[in-house]
Amino acid sequence: MTSQRTRERMVQRLGDLGISNLRVMEAMLSIPRHLYIEEAFAHRAYEDIALPIAFNQTISQPYIVARMTELLLSNLSGNSKILEIGTGCGYQTSILARLVNHVYSIERISPLLEKTKARLFELQIHNISLKCADGSFGWSQHGPFDGIIITAAAKVVPPALIQQLAEGGTLVVPEGAGAQTLRVYHKNGGEISAVSLEAVRFVPLLGGVER
Ligand code: SAH
Repeated sequence: MTSQRTRERMVQRLGDLGISNLRVMEAMLSIPRHLYIEEAFAHRAYEDIALPIAFNQTISQPYIVARMTELLLSNLSGNSKILEIGTGCGYQTSILARLVNHVYSIERISPLLEKTKARLFELQIHNISLKCADGSFGWSQHGPFDGIIITAAAKVVPPALIQQLAEGGTLVVPEGAGAQTLRVYHKNGGEISAVSLEAVRFVPLLGGVER
């Protein structure tokens, strides 16, 4: 149930759902999702469903991970530098790490981040930098970023993140308080434009840090 064949079927389903970026599909094929979730759920790892991880958080549904990655990469080169808000179990981080030069990822729950750090080290994913902080403030020392992905629902996009988006960059975010919509922002000529896509469901973007 955690075999390569199962993963191939998952990727096939992503194609049926409209995912078309082959690099994204290759990344989804290569990352063993069952190693990111609690063992009790490992047998469901390749179903297209969100699953619980520690600390009341969730790993997003594979389709949403693929979709957000595809949107984020649509204008970027492989040399890109990405900022992720909400490391969680590190699955999305790992997918991105296969596709871009470097991923900076911020998580607010310290013990969750420590677990994830150990996992990513074990899986030998090294082109990432992780820190425990409130991601709403971004990571200005390493900005501007070619792409920013927020994997928790923001009522409004934190202004610091818009600021840290590079010229020509793309930001992908589930936006909204109750009902959430996947939105994509572009920065061109210093101007910000946004488009709204499908309805989504994410845990909320929260302030502060949990030790
Ligand atoms: N990308 C993750 C999804 C995890 S769920 C994965 O693949 O597993 C969203 C994560 O965002 C949770 O771990 C939550 O703790 C974190 N989060 C919520 N608000 C945050 C904030 N302000 N800064 C950093 N992380 C935040």
